[in-house]
Amino acid sequence: MRVISILSEGHYYRGNLHGHSTFSDGHDSPEEVIRLYRQAGYDFTCLSEHYWSSKRFCAQSIIDMQGHNSDDFVTILSAELHCHGKRYDRDGLWHILANGLPADFPMASDDETGPQLVRRAVDAGAYVSIPHPEWYTLGDDEALSLAAAGAHGVEIYNHSSAIAVARGGGTATIDMLHHEGHRVHILATDDSHHIAEDGCGGWVMVRAASLTPASIISALKAGDFYASCGPEFAAVTLQDGSVDVTCSAVQRVILAADNHRGDCVHGDGLTSASFDLGDDLPAFLRIIIIDAQGRPAWTNAVWLDQTF
Ligand SMILES: [Zn+2]
Ligand SMILES: [Zn+2]
Repeated sequence: MRVISILSEGHYYRGNLHGHSTFSDGHDSPEEVIRLYRQAGYDFTCLSEHYWSSKRFCAQSIIDMQGHNSDDFVTILSAELHCHGKRYDRDGLWHILANGLPADFPMASDDETGPQLVRRAVDAGAYVSIPHPEWYTLGDDEALSLAAAGAHGVEIYNHSSAIAVARGGGTATIDMLHHEGHRVHILATDDSHHIAEDGCGGWVMVRAASLTPASIISALKAGDFYASCGPEFAAVTLQDGSVDVTCSAVQRVILAADNHRGDCVHGDGLTSASFDLGDDLPAFLRIIIIDAQGRPAWTNAVWLDQTF
């Protein structure tokens, strides 16, 4: 029987896709943001500054710190794009995270919609995701409109929103989109504004061919990554109806599949677990591991029509 790799062994680069500096409404200078993430053991970070006409909290251009890139640490041109039309946002603005943008990507116009902005960023080559769905009460119709426009991923964890207002999650939005047929990726980010307080709480581990912005964006688009707040996956494979997980020491290994199907293995210091799917295969599944400190990590979902 062929072994299907849901999450491959290999070298993973650790990075933050969502963060702010003094270039928009953050506390730390761009150089300090880079220094702090580098010091924390990251391989890359993104200065995804608010990009909109409001000068109250937004930058008026896209910051390019790639001149600081080196063999062992890179930044990726990014922005948190805004435009009018979001319900339940204090400013009535959409927030759209775009990594790997061209530096001359134009700001949204006054009449551009959220889905139009997502499409334009995707067409410009960016990896586009939906940030903090829980923080600003993203409606299902709103999430569906962005996914239909081509958004690649959704934050399942936004650290800043989690620690500041206890609205850091995105699981409900992601499961809704998956059941509606949108195969969006699962991301964890910091959305850091002051790294001493809200840094290094959620990140992605990306299996890129090399540590370059282009290689990381390419791996993100391929879904070749996982999201984490602490624990690490080694490998997740599917063979003959069995899902086999190896990981750093955790207390729980969870399988979550379509139609609220799930399973869980408990234990102290677990570094492996297996789930027997039997003959009744789910449409899709994903794996979550949770360590002794309660910190999770999430694989992307895999659709079994792609693997069997
Ligand atoms: Zn935001
Ligand atoms: Zn943000």
